Amino acid sequence: MLKPNGNYRNLKDSYLFFGISKKVEAYRKAHPDLPLYRLGIGDVSRPLCDEAIKALHAAVNDQADARTFRGYTPECGIPEFRQAAAGYYARRGVRLDPEEVFVSSGASDELGDILDLFDASSPALITQPAYPAYVDASVMAGRKVSFLNAGPENDFLPLPGEDTEADLIYLCSPNNPTGAVYSREQLQAWVDYANRRGAVILFDAAYEAFIEEDLPHSIFEIPGAENCAVEICSLSKTAGFTGTRLGYTVIPKALERDGMNLNAMWVRNRTTKTNGISYILQKAGIAVFSDAGLRQIQENIQIYKENARVLMRALDGAGIRYWGGKNAPYIWMACPDGMKSWDFFDLLLNEIQVIGTPGEGFGACGEGFFRLSSFGDPEDTRIAAERIRSLIVNR
Ligand code: PLP
Repeated sequence: MLKPNGNYRNLKDSYLFFGISKKVEAYRKAHPDLPLYRLGIGDVSRPLCDEAIKALHAAVNDQADARTFRGYTPECGIPEFRQAAAGYYARRGVRLDPEEVFVSSGASDELGDILDLFDASSPALITQPAYPAYVDASVMAGRKVSFLNAGPENDFLPLPGEDTEADLIYLCSPNNPTGAVYSREQLQAWVDYANRRGAVILFDAAYEAFIEEDLPHSIFEIPGAENCAVEICSLSKTAGFTGTRLGYTVIPKALERDGMNLNAMWVRNRTTKTNGISYILQKAGIAVFSDAGLRQIQENIQIYKENARVLMRALDGAGIRYWGGKNAPYIWMACPDGMKSWDFFDLLLNEIQVIGTPGEGFGACGEGFFRLSSFGDPEDTRIAAERIRSLIVNR
């Protein structure tokens, strides 16, 4: 009899978003006339920028004409896309060979697929609170997972210690859910640790475009990272491609373990397991990386950033401690009066019709914290922020 992948038995039920939607649905049924203010979503609300839309239309027209029609695209990305993404890094002084950039259909797909490169016996280390896919993709692959806890004591930016043991290290900066961003010195500590140990860092840079202070956008800004890191990037939050689906992954040609070259292995993987990413989407991605495209996506990001400032001002007014918000679309707040995160969720929903995300859903050490997202509508965000401030101040 066929044996299914028994590792799936080891997955914990993903209660977070299911639990939220059940509670919200029940509330909506009981109070059909009350508007809800959503600060829980990790999805964007702004449309694609003009440059991307123009490129999408033009690429669709290309497909309508035998002279410009494109069939299969190269599995690792059309050269123009790989060149454009490498050019984006060059703007920050990171020199990449375009063949070190691989197109993808988004970070989520890649975070699971990339595990093919590593033997399942190599354990993973995940800093928590964490984006839930890291744990689940590792467990599905039969990988042992250990956690490094983040908290106020390390400003939600944990570093490797004497006793840290890891072969595959997940880092996410700017972090979902905490909004915390590693400094150059802190990332250097991780890179040095990984090179000493022969570990590999999977660096999730999905939110790099939200950084406004002088902090690293890419792990490849750190000397030595080309020997120990893979970077997973996405146009989802950067450019509103959550529904369009486009991302890219950087695997340096210098990255080798046990005599095997990870870049060459990924070429082999992609050419076997994919037949490329849509020509139309890659053309839109190229347009995003143009001068005009980058200017336009920043205009959208600035709208989210204003939402974040509105939320941060409200929390300041309520005397609440929080992290993130400045260089990330998420604000990670301490629940008032030591409340548990699901209790605070219920309080916000029932008293002021505001929906956020309980920190406990991102790992046990998220208990007592709460994530607010700046991806919502500006007017809704203003109303929700004032309601949160007033609720906390008048409690
Ligand atoms: N990584 C992090 C930290 C995320 O928060 C998300 C989405 O919310 C992703 C990756 C997945 O992004 P994508 O839409 O590219 O699959």
